[in-house]
Amino acid sequence: MEKLQNYIGGKLIPPHSGEYFNNYEPAKGAVYSLIPDSDENDIDAAVIAAKKAFPEWSVMPKQKRSNLLLKLADFILKNADQIAKEESIDNGKPLKLAKQVDIPRAESNIRFFATAILHFESESHSMENTAINYTLREPIGIVGAISPWNLPLYLFTWKIAPALAAGNCVVAKPSEITPFTAYTLSKLCIEAGIPEGVLNIVHGHGKKVGEAISKHPEIKVISFTGGTETGARIASIAAPMFKKLSLELGGKNANIIFDDCDFDEMIKVTIRSSFANQGQICLCGSRILIQRGLYKKFKEEFVKQTRKLTVGNPLLESTKIGAVVSEAHMNKILSYIDIAKSEGGKIIVGGNRVYLNGENMEGWFVEPTIIEGLDNTCRTNQEEIFGPVVTLQPFDTEEEAIAIANGTQYGLSSTVWTNDVKRTHNIAQKLHAGIVWINCWLVRDLRTPFGGTKNSGVGREGGFEALRFFTEAKNVCIQL
Ligand code: NAD
Repeated sequence: MEKLQNYIGGKLIPPHSGEYFNNYEPAKGAVYSLIPDSDENDIDAAVIAAKKAFPEWSVMPKQKRSNLLLKLADFILKNADQIAKEESIDNGKPLKLAKQVDIPRAESNIRFFATAILHFESESHSMENTAINYTLREPIGIVGAISPWNLPLYLFTWKIAPALAAGNCVVAKPSEITPFTAYTLSKLCIEAGIPEGVLNIVHGHGKKVGEAISKHPEIKVISFTGGTETGARIASIAAPMFKKLSLELGGKNANIIFDDCDFDEMIKVTIRSSFANQGQICLCGSRILIQRGLYKKFKEEFVKQTRKLTVGNPLLESTKIGAVVSEAHMNKILSYIDIAKSEGGKIIVGGNRVYLNGENMEGWFVEPTIIEGLDNTCRTNQEEIFGPVVTLQPFDTEEEAIAIANGTQYGLSSTVWTNDVKRTHNIAQKLHAGIVWINCWLVRDLRTPFGGTKNSGVGREGGFEALRFFTEAKNVCIQL
């Protein structure tokens, strides 16, 4: 069975403990590779390697750094089909999705920041005849990057690329639930000639490896994507050490549908925003709010289209819904469906585990599920389920829709369907969300600020926001 390795100081090496734990293929419910059970000793080694690499990497001409990262992107492109297959096997997501979204996006993350750094500029403030100020933006040092399992290589590279482009060295930890493509990335870094120690990838459990990153005094910056509780834990360790923190956390996003929308387009996109990646995208619209006049028509068509979604082997072209990521996560999703029932919710589609035949017999599959009849205050509508489960709620007025949408602890994203221009501007201003999509979903321009408000996070990723985060600003004031 394949043993994954850590990538430290440019080399693939076993964990200090010599121990490994199981990596499962969700579509088969079976172990297929082994993950290094790393600990603080491996993080110490990674930090030493990063520290050694920093003096040269941080002053390397930007063009040269950029060229090295572009070469890494070329290697991802060259191996894209193989990496997509690895991602699908490791995560359970449909291969088609990994091919169309995850891996192309991982490649473009690296390309984007490799070139963005060439255009990154700093400010100058003139004080008439008194003085002139200019701002230097310098790499900070060693960055810790911790990422989740839902979009494994996509989110891993989203952090690593800007940190490296800005001249930092990185100690990164992929999710222990989906470590495989991070391992592949380490092999591609070696092929692409990324200098030793510039990027270090340490595998293992969050409580050991993630905490060791949070606690390490030499890691000055932490970029984290994952659950809100984990974010709070990391902040509780890192904040008293005055580390710079970017936290991209959970969501309970509202998809608000007004009766003047373009119905066919809205249905098509709402199917995706509800169930893409088995609903395991932080931006999925898990609470669907529908204006009362359209409720019946919406429900009929949405139910019809949901019933057509094929749950199946993720490697098959026909599959629309693959496996959920783990047995524990499947049980969490199913337990929320039970909670919904106990709260008085009516399951109008799905609600059950799916048992497939043959090699997928033991796989972790859940039916796309639609629930109605619950108000916004219940647990089903307040807590993040992060699976193929949505609720329907009717509303009458714009004010009511805004109040329901804003009525959770989260504030990541929102989608609004309407053809009323005035309303789009009004509602976009009033929604508590870092991202508002109008008549679309998951349309991403990598230059735009990305992140959440309230308990969905602190800070923004994307574009120059990320490059600012990964640099320290120093003002230089010269008297004239
Ligand atoms: P998680 O918080 O359990 O784990 C995320 C990462 O943190 C993993 O690498 C894990 O090993 C590590 N970790 C766990 N405990 C840790 C600790 N004590 N200290 C340091 N690191 C620790 O999240 P998950 O289950 O992997 O991912 C799902 C969550 O991620 C959902 O809440 C989802 O909404 C969120 N998410 C948010 C965004 C966003 O951009 N806002 C994007 C994707 C996913």
